[in-house]
Amino acid sequence: MHEYSIVQSLMDRVESEAAARGATVVRALTVRIGEMSGVEPVLLQTAFETFVEKTICEGAALKIIRVPVSWACPRCEEPIAPGTFLQCPKCAVPATLRGGDEIILERIEMEVPDV
Ligand SMILES: [Zn+2]
Repeated sequence: MHEYSIVQSLMDRVESEAAARGATVVRALTVRIGEMSGVEPVLLQTAFETFVEKTICEGAALKIIRVPVSWACPRCEEPIAPGTFLQCPKCAVPATLRGGDEIILERIEMEVPDV
């Protein structure tokens, strides 16, 4: 399961961030998932809920932001609409993917106790 390995690497990141800040509780995570990343948000949610038991993220909310696919010309940076002929009309070079394949841990909301 692709989603389980993604959750595993997210958790590694969250745990090291939490340890670095002395956080005791993680309230929520925000993750950006590109439409072409191959990640199913529903499966990711399920994997997350299974995985976080007995970790610092137990009970934390997972917020998923879907990122649409975007293409641009690698030469002139002209944005090229997905679903069209993926080539720059000016430069006649193939468009390159500029977004939509990412899996990014964007935000961690955690509680750091006052000392
Ligand atoms: Zn161009």
